[in-house]
Amino acid sequence: MITPVLPTYKRAPLAFDHGKGMRIYTAEGKEYLDFGAGVAVTSLGHAHPHLVEALAEQARKLWHTSNLYVIPGQEKLARRLTEATFADTVFFTNSGAEALECTIKMARKYHAAKGHPERYRIITFEGAFHGRTLATIAAGGQAKYIEGFGPKVDGFDQVPFGDEKALNAAITDATAAILIEPIQGEGGMRPVPPKTLRRLREICDENGLLLLLDEVQSGVGRTGKLFAHEWAGITPDIMAIAKGIGGGFPVGACLATEEAAQSMTAGTHGSTFGGNPLAMAVGNAVLDVMLADGFLARVRERGLNLKQKLAQLKDSHPDIIEEVRGEGLMMGLKTKVPNTDFVAAALDQQLLTIGAGDNVVRLLPPLIVSDDDLSEAVTKLDRTCQSFKSKA
Ligand SMILES: *Cc1c(COP(=O)(O)O)cnc(C)c1O
Repeated sequence: MITPVLPTYKRAPLAFDHGKGMRIYTAEGKEYLDFGAGVAVTSLGHAHPHLVEALAEQARKLWHTSNLYVIPGQEKLARRLTEATFADTVFFTNSGAEALECTIKMARKYHAAKGHPERYRIITFEGAFHGRTLATIAAGGQAKYIEGFGPKVDGFDQVPFGDEKALNAAITDATAAILIEPIQGEGGMRPVPPKTLRRLREICDENGLLLLLDEVQSGVGRTGKLFAHEWAGITPDIMAIAKGIGGGFPVGACLATEEAAQSMTAGTHGSTFGGNPLAMAVGNAVLDVMLADGFLARVRERGLNLKQKLAQLKDSHPDIIEEVRGEGLMMGLKTKVPNTDFVAAALDQQLLTIGAGDNVVRLLPPLIVSDDDLSEAVTKLDRTCQSFKSKA
């Protein structure tokens, strides 16, 4: 018999009741160290006082008005995001997939408005993940997400990760854009080398294509810069963000240059809930913390510390850990045991981690993590590795 909750997730038999900072607790008070952050979402940890206060204050004033009226929180958050990035304009959504939908629609409309509606195809990369809507599963190109859901949305051409020849061969007169995650998250924490991102920017410029970045997971401070592409010294034309910007409240956004966004006039796109006052209060509160002096520098320091500790862990357990991947606080362990077994064994050590493709275990702590928390997590990971040896 089907469960009342549609069983589309294979869930751990574990429910949480409350959280504080880096820690999350069951109703019985059992404590877990959270290195998953709800898949890179609770970027400032649980129950951050500044976020709680911002949400509660807005909740007492006004929840929702629709986008038929000016929403001051949107004006403020959009202004701050445009000041802090390449972008000139922002559309707010409730999720990452919706931010990608806006990104895809905008790229197509850009060329259509220039008299080239036939230029609607977008090149994506093997191992990509862009969400679960009909267009974003087609963009991601993973058969297991596409099969059985009717004709695949047309307009996406996938090429192997890091194969410039294949990429050049895929560019035709119908190509509108290239879409890439600066660090593949679900695909297995695979960073795109900065020189490859710079090359993609050149290829786009040479061919009149738009460069679209999916920073839903890699963005909002995760790598120690506000956005991961900053490490490569390039800027995209359009970028999708979500996850960390809401700190746990559903918020996404599509950021774009004026040039790329020029045809998105009144009536061309919309969302009932996108950018509602509650979401904007939290998004602004997240930026209050992240843009404060020294915050991102601390994330960079913690990221280096974590990388070093994980390298040592790999040296201690070469039979369990094959490779350490990632940047900043977006790290992955490619394991020699099934990653699902590793995540379950880490759970026994009261440490939350998250599986990814390519048999990788993701470590995505809230960005407020301390060096002590990192040491504690690595001790738990060490015990997790040992637990496999005692079984063998
Ligand atoms: C999570 C994720 C998405 C989809 O976001 P949702 O909020 O689940 O729709 C898209 N792209 C990347 C890179 C992601 O990590």
